[in-house]
Amino acid sequence: MTIERLLPGSALQSYPPADRWDDWREYDVKAWPRRVERRYMLVPTICFNCEAACGLLAFVDRETMRVRKFEGNPLHPASRGRNCAKGPATINQIHDPERILYPLKRAGARGAGRWQRVSWDQVLDEIGARIRKAFQEGRRNEVMYHVGRPGHERAMDRVLKAWGIDGHNSHTNVCSSSARLGYALWSGYDRPSPDHARARFILLLSSHLEAGHYFNPHAQRIIEGKLAGAKLAVMDPRLSNTASMADFWLPTYPGSEAAVLLAMAKVLLDEGLADLDYVERWTNWREYMAHRRAGVEPTFAAFVAALKDEYRAFTPELAEAESGVDRHRIVQVARLIGAARGAFASHVWRGSASGNLGGWQVARALQLLTVLTASVGTPGGTSPSAWNKYKPFFWEEPPAHAEWNDLLFPKEWPLSHYEMSFLLPHFLKEGRGTLDVYFTRVYNPVWTNPDGMMWVDVLKDEALVGLHAALTPTWSETAIFADYVLPMGHAGERHDIQSQETHSGKWVSFRQPVVRAARERLGETFRFTYETNPGEVWEEDEFWIELSWRIDPDGALGIRRWFESPYRPGEKLTVEEYYRWIFENAVPGLPAAASREGLAPLDYMRRYGAFLIESDVHELHAQHVDVPADAARDPETGRVDVRGKAVGIEIDGEVVAGFPTPSRRLELYSRTLEEWGWPEEALPGYIRSHVHRDALDAAKGEMLLLPTFRLPTLIHTRSGNAKYLNEISHRNPVWIHTGDARRLGVATGDLLRVTTEIGHFVNRAWVTESIAPGVVACSHHLGRWRLREGEGSRWSTAAVRLAPHDGGWLLRQVQGVGPFRSDDPDSSRIFWSDGGVHQNLAFPVHPDPVSGMHCWHQKVVVARAPAGDHYGDVYVDTERSMAVYREWLARARPGPGPGGLRRPLWLDRPLRPTEAAFLSPPRPL
Ligand code: SF4
Repeated sequence: MTIERLLPGSALQSYPPADRWDDWREYDVKAWPRRVERRYMLVPTICFNCEAACGLLAFVDRETMRVRKFEGNPLHPASRGRNCAKGPATINQIHDPERILYPLKRAGARGAGRWQRVSWDQVLDEIGARIRKAFQEGRRNEVMYHVGRPGHERAMDRVLKAWGIDGHNSHTNVCSSSARLGYALWSGYDRPSPDHARARFILLLSSHLEAGHYFNPHAQRIIEGKLAGAKLAVMDPRLSNTASMADFWLPTYPGSEAAVLLAMAKVLLDEGLADLDYVERWTNWREYMAHRRAGVEPTFAAFVAALKDEYRAFTPELAEAESGVDRHRIVQVARLIGAARGAFASHVWRGSASGNLGGWQVARALQLLTVLTASVGTPGGTSPSAWNKYKPFFWEEPPAHAEWNDLLFPKEWPLSHYEMSFLLPHFLKEGRGTLDVYFTRVYNPVWTNPDGMMWVDVLKDEALVGLHAALTPTWSETAIFADYVLPMGHAGERHDIQSQETHSGKWVSFRQPVVRAARERLGETFRFTYETNPGEVWEEDEFWIELSWRIDPDGALGIRRWFESPYRPGEKLTVEEYYRWIFENAVPGLPAAASREGLAPLDYMRRYGAFLIESDVHELHAQHVDVPADAARDPETGRVDVRGKAVGIEIDGEVVAGFPTPSRRLELYSRTLEEWGWPEEALPGYIRSHVHRDALDAAKGEMLLLPTFRLPTLIHTRSGNAKYLNEISHRNPVWIHTGDARRLGVATGDLLRVTTEIGHFVNRAWVTESIAPGVVACSHHLGRWRLREGEGSRWSTAAVRLAPHDGGWLLRQVQGVGPFRSDDPDSSRIFWSDGGVHQNLAFPVHPDPVSGMHCWHQKVVVARAPAGDHYGDVYVDTERSMAVYREWLARARPGPGPGGLRRPLWLDRPLRPTEAAFLSPPRPL
């Protein structure tokens, strides 16, 4: 949104000019119709409400030094001053009358709801001593950090490397790892970075324009692309707002997307629309011929014939039968994609990739279209993520750790792209290990993950989780099962570096505690950020530095040295020094830009909040690489190695960068999959989903539940305490097609019982033509709950009772959302009573056997709710959920792989250990 405001004595303006940010004056809109002038200091920071990292400007009232509002930062290269509703709603999160203001320690049994306020010193001493003991006793793998909302470019990696532990866990396997694996298998880069603004054709899988990945920065560029003439196609079984804006809506039956994409690839190949010169130059077709067509002369013509043969089954007729989308429309879109040669932008992130068994093949099939149209890294095409993302480096880098934690990367999933995070409770229950100290950071697995009751079970068990510290800005369904609840800052209350691949360019941005920054600008000094935040809300950066010193007070463990100042040897690092060093030394072009303004680099970032490092980044794979004379060139493949490491590829006599794959080319054929137990999936293919039509029994009333779609106004746990957002969106009814509703005899508002493999939930129907027949859909953003008063935001949570029931657990709402008394008068004006239904609790885990991603879509039976069911009921049978886990475990094809490796060396890990650790037991390679 762009704000226009009337300035005292001037004309309408969209944004305050940067040269007036120190003392900005404008009329107070709340005082209207009176003209009351306010004076502000405008301090930039970064939104924390989704991964897009849009810029915000905090309006710090110069009279009270209190933040009065957040608006967009016009100098941010990705968001360019615009935000979605969640950006300005940061003000609600900061001033929430129910937020956690001080560190808390449990005073009774874990989960019993008794808390006492403690000091940060006590927290640091107690947790530090426990970690120190674990390290001294060689129990390094018993310390784990589990992140929900990441950020902190490389900062946490540095902390965990300094501690020497394999303790990084993430949420990624319930989010995006399937798509990531698909992209990584092609190019070594695990995310796409489409140049929507210059595309001639844009294909989106799922509703990116309104709620997808990098939502606001992408949306504005998709619209720019459309205004410049690009056509937009959207594959989504829901008529999302995005689909309604598209030139082509392809309502594919969930899980059929790869079949449609491969049919489009077949059209490109059969109709001469593919750029075969590009395919010959950049793909590893020779490797394919050597391994899959050994008896055939390895010419490119023979390869093209073989490729057509590989995809001959993917006719438009097959695609129509699988997807339900008209074959002529599929062909029409394919031809337009072919006509966009060199400027085809596309994206899949969650959606079909995260919903389905084999979802990673959806990303591979989509990337096949990008490769066939020669659109990799071109203006208007789709680049690898890393080209458009900045990562800092440090004055000293701790060495890679030598541990391998089987709780994170177990042998059953040697190719899992990220940690098997959502199976942690199942692994602990199976006796695969225990945790001594477990940090959850802005992470709410009880509510966000499937099988949340399994998390409750394990988090309550002190024999399995010795100490649980929840670093969180808000109460959550997980924090209530912690030993320490440690309040951490929202967007304008902490430091952080952010950079994302939002478009064709590379930028860095700076999240900062805005009141601290404003007061420091006025000459005050502070030791810790919690001195300027509400209560004693702190920030992670300072917390980890302090904790690391408590773990290793005398430096004997070799940890402390990594948290010493680069400017004052032997002294404790300050957060200011940390960012000062990075901005002075590790951001190309920033020192010069700052100097032109007479500023130090850190002051430049404090003042403007973001810096564009490079614009128009394209075709880096074709860049020349200088290699030493002793570089080895493989005559078969052209791969160029220096001291055993691939550095480039020789093409037409020139060594160029290529891609970080084993072949250094785009791997249309994956030797990795062939050698690691998945030969049938070595090419981009189509895996029939676990919710394929054939897997559903219509006679039993089985349908497909699509539980993954996002609401543009909410974000998982953190928006629970944002009053504006909950006022806009506070219910998540079950979308059901008119025909299915007629069959079941239900109307909008009727109660439905949705029965999953392990239980059921009860929600209201929303009857609509905007969903494919046979499919029901429910947004995953709602249904927050609290067991006790004071342990959950009353803007969004229902009060519930959780009790044993029928061999399992029944969660029942006892009171919906309603007005309450607080310091904020708006809390007494809450008009909504609905907070939605928590569906994820009733889902079993579905780990994809290759990517490790949880496959979110559910086979369900939908029926009118029987008498006795209440709105919001969730019933779960945890024994059955363990059985479903074992059924999926049996689908895995365990390692080790070639050479006794736990995992291919070339596939990265978020916190990569030494190469020796890839072998079991660890030994030098
Ligand atoms: S898209 Fe919205 S929630 Fe996400 S970073 Fe931007 S303003 Fe914040």
